[in-house]
Amino acid sequence: MDKTIFQKIIDREIPATIEYEDEEVIVIEDIAPKAPVHLLIIPKKFIASVIDLEESDGNLMGKLILTARKVAAQRGLSGYKLLFNVGKDGGQIVPHLHLHLLGGGRVELDRT
Ligand code: 5GP
Repeated sequence: MDKTIFQKIIDREIPATIEYEDEEVIVIEDIAPKAPVHLLIIPKKFIASVIDLEESDGNLMGKLILTARKVAAQRGLSGYKLLFNVGKDGGQIVPHLHLHLLGGGRVELDRT
């Protein structure tokens, strides 16, 4: 299977604005922001979608939310939305699991 765009960012094959990174996750700015702050929290372990999660991924999923909380606090956000698009019919375009963090103003959810 070809690498996803996010795998290429993780592997430094294409550039991105990186907000945070550790051994398990990377946080980047969305290239087409739908809110004043639009970050993507991406696990380095390849999982295509929420649909593909296994029971053993529970800790990693918690890590995604805790990482979102951390970067939101660093950005000084007092409130925000966290969103997974799940599968093509759920609006997911990039088949590498990611959590959207949207904040800093009014957030439209029709096409995130
Ligand atoms: P999805 O619809 O799959 O949940 O969201 C994918 C998100 O990735 C979209 O908000 C889109 O703007 C963003 N995106 C797509 N390609 C790139 C890219 O090359 N770099 C960055 N930083 N974001 C991207």
